Parts: sequence; C-alpha cells; structure tokens
Amino acid sequence: MKKRSVLFLVLIAVLLISLSVALLFFGGLGARSKDPLQSNQSGGQQTGQPSATPDPDDILRQNGSIPIPPSASDPKNASCGPLQVHILNVSQADAILIITPGNKTIMIDSGSHMKKNSSSYMLAYLKQSGIKRIDYLIATHYHEDHIGGMDDLFKSFDIGAVYDNGNCGNYSSAVQLSFEGYALSRNFTHVKTDMDLPADPCLDAARLIVAYDRPQGCWPSSKESSNENDNSILLRLAYRNASFLFAGDCEADCEAELVRQGTYLGSDFLKVGHHGSATSSTKPFLDAVGAAYYAISVDRIRSISDGYFHPRKESLSNIYEAGGFGSGLSKIFRTDLQGDISLVSDGDAIAIRTGTDATNCQLFSGYSSSDKSSYGPIPALAGSCK
Ligand SMILES: [Zn+2]
Repeated sequence: MKKRSVLFLVLIAVLLISLSVALLFFGGLGARSKDPLQSNQSGGQQTGQPSATPDPDDILRQNGSIPIPPSASDPKNASCGPLQVHILNVSQADAILIITPGNKTIMIDSGSHMKKNSSSYMLAYLKQSGIKRIDYLIATHYHEDHIGGMDDLFKSFDIGAVYDNGNCGNYSSAVQLSFEGYALSRNFTHVKTDMDLPADPCLDAARLIVAYDRPQGCWPSSKESSNENDNSILLRLAYRNASFLFAGDCEADCEAELVRQGTYLGSDFLKVGHHGSATSSTKPFLDAVGAAYYAISVDRIRSISDGYFHPRKESLSNIYEAGGFGSGLSKIFRTDLQGDISLVSDGDAIAIRTGTDATNCQLFSGYSSSDKSSYGPIPALAGSCK
C-alpha cells in the first residue's frame, strides 16, 4: 500500500507540474499578445496628438514632403500638445478662440450684442470648452461686431494681457468706452507696429501685424486711414509646419499696404478679412498668403438685412482662384453654412471639423456687388454644382 501511495503521489505531482507549466505557457502567450495593443494605447495617450491616420473627411492637409517635426524627446517639444483654433458661429461678427500647444488661451474679438446677441453664444461655447482664463485678448479694431461682447468676457473670465489698435479714431460709443474701461485696468498694450505676442514657447511664431506703423499711437498723417477696418490687427501663428493668419476686417488698402511692405503673410489657413466683403480678399493679398484653407465668419441673412450682402461673389471668386478650389487641395468654410469651425493641428496635419456639412455649391454662393438681388453659385463655378 505504501508503494502504491508513493506512486500515486508522484503521479499527482507530475500532473500538477505539467498543468502549471501549461498554464504559465498559455497565460504568458495571452499577456504577450496584449502587449502591442497596450503599448499603442499608452503611446497615443502620451502624445495627446491626432492619430497618424486621421479620418479622411476631417483631414485637410497631410503634407508628407515637409521636414519631420523636432523629436519629442526634446523637453520643449514633449510638453507641446496640439494647437486648436475655433472660429465661432457668432453671426455677422468675429470671435475666435485659440488654445496654444502649451495650453495658453488667445481670444480674438468677442462677438456682438447687436448681431443676434452672439456674445452670449460665445460665452456658452467658452464655458462648455472649460475655459477659465483668457491669457491674451486681442481687439482687432473698434467696431461693435468685434468688441461688442468684451464686457461679457471681462465679467466672466480671468483676463491676462489685452491688445488693441490704439483706438485711432477716438471712438467713444458706450461699447467702446466700456471695453477701454475694462482694458485699462489690465496689462494693456496698444499695437503700434508689428510685434510678437509672447504667448507660448511651443509656437514658432505669434506675430501681431498692423498695416500702418503708429509711432505716436495713431496713424502718421501721410498714411491716415479713415477706414477703421484697415486699422485691424492681424495675427499670424506658426506651429512647426502649420501656419494660420487671422485678418480681422483688413480691407483692400490694408491688404495692399501689407503686400507693399513685404510683410510675411504665408500661411496654410486664412481667416478671411471682413466677413467676405468685396472690398477684401484682393488677389495680391491672397497670393501673398497662399492659403489652402479658408474660413469666413459671416451671417448671410443678417448681412442682407444690414445691406452688406456678405459674402460677395467677387471675394469668393478670388479665393477660389487663389486656393485652387476644385483641385481637391483647398476648401472654404463658412460659419453661416457650417456653424462653428474647429481646427486642430499637431504642427503638420490640420484637421477641421464643422458643426454641419455643406456642399461645395453652397460654399461658392454669394452676392454680386452689381446685382444685390442675386444669390447663388458663382457662374464660373456652376459646372461644379451637381
Ligand atoms: Zn467686422
């Protein structure tokens, strides 16, 4: 009996050892088979950047010919996330939120109280985005559709540095005085000449641009402009290989002066000047920018009632020609057709999402300055409408 018991125990022990080895082997295979997936997931979370193979519908540019971005092992670059730009749908007005790669916030203009009270929409958007502080607030110029909602911003957010164009026209309406009243108690800078915005070391450029230098805080008499739109501050941002130009309401004289001075304007993306008016988006300016992607902040219905008839076919045609729309390399986005326009870039690719979708035919519809009763596709592009 003892020998049988010993043999039985030995047999049990052999079976247990075999079972353990088998479990370890198959269990180990299972763990190894998960490693690549786990590795990929953690890698994506660490970078916090758009996928290397983004959705084709969202990606507007994937330029494989440009240099590879600096190594993420560089501490400066490792801490730099994506650049976000949000062109808010604020009717016939401007309000643009920028979140820099180093997580600073820049706000260009503030919507309006007069145009559908769009500043309230802006406020809701910012709060929903989790914005608590605006590090840099830029008032492009002293018109209500750009500074009308500034009081809402000052009341609702911690505001850092404020930049304006110096109020050259000495405007004194309630909304203008209100803005200056708030701004004067902050770190307030009048942009008298081109200057860098000290926004974020992750950015390769953050340049505030004015068409006319104003050493005395206002226009030199020889270049005096009675058009406040031409006093607009422009902002050009560059992040690695992706660049963005925001043109305020800069019109033809402003555009021509920037081109004459040779101001560097080259950008992949252009926030079109002055809501797509026929007095902006001149061909030489668009050629100097050379953008592939365009956004127009406009409210066609409101613009009709205001008598502006934006966007105009003339400017849309110029953008079409400059951007080579139809080649598949460029697109125009409009807030009135597509709602909020959000761009995200890792410094190479630029992904754009909009609130709604629209056809290219709609995108190229506008009024002709010679026929304000018309609205429809640009005749030269009618063939592209299906
Ligand atoms: Zn405007």
